[in-house]
Amino acid sequence: MTLETFYQRLLNPPHPWKVSRVEMSEDSSRVDVWLKHEEYTFLCSECHRKAPTYDHMPERVFQHLDTCESKTFLHVRLPRVDCPEHGVKQGVFPLAGPYRDVTYKLEAKCIQVMEECDRTAAARITGVTWERLGTIMQQAVDRGLERRGKEMPSVLGFDEKQVFSGHRYFTIVTDPSGSHRRCQVAWSAGGRLPSLSRGASRTAV
Ligand SMILES: [Zn+2]
Repeated sequence: MTLETFYQRLLNPPHPWKVSRVEMSEDSSRVDVWLKHEEYTFLCSECHRKAPTYDHMPERVFQHLDTCESKTFLHVRLPRVDCPEHGVKQGVFPLAGPYRDVTYKLEAKCIQVMEECDRTAAARITGVTWERLGTIMQQAVDRGLERRGKEMPSVLGFDEKQVFSGHRYFTIVTDPSGSHRRCQVAWSAGGRLPSLSRGASRTAV
């Protein structure tokens, strides 16, 4: 079995993508996988409607989940489509979002690990850099806030956290009525509770 066939089975990329080439480093610590697509009509990333292919972007590299303990990177030339409504846009790539450099699967793993430990430990466990984890975390927060919309919770919880045993503080505002297993963070910022919210805190709690 060739490396390409092995990785085609292992990664099983969604149609129309297929593994076309695989390169492994001398010490097997890193594997690079190139994906190509068959003839296909892609969807516009704005409206998710089918549109004719316009051209292909320069090659991009996405870090993926490790395979066989090797850091794994996917190389792809993403198609651009000519959407009648939005003009030339990137076609939908089912393995990663348009502004990411990690795949959805690795992103999900990173978020899961960051829920259990701090970012430094998460970087060590996932092999993703501390800075990139920060971007993943911020994008996850942005998506959560977008999903939540502009509805104001009826009750708010205020908390002040001191960090690094110095005089550095974070203020965290939570929505205790969230449907999840724990309070949802509604807002957070560096610094102490302003006096106005101290009053609000006493009223809310
Ligand atoms: Zn469109």
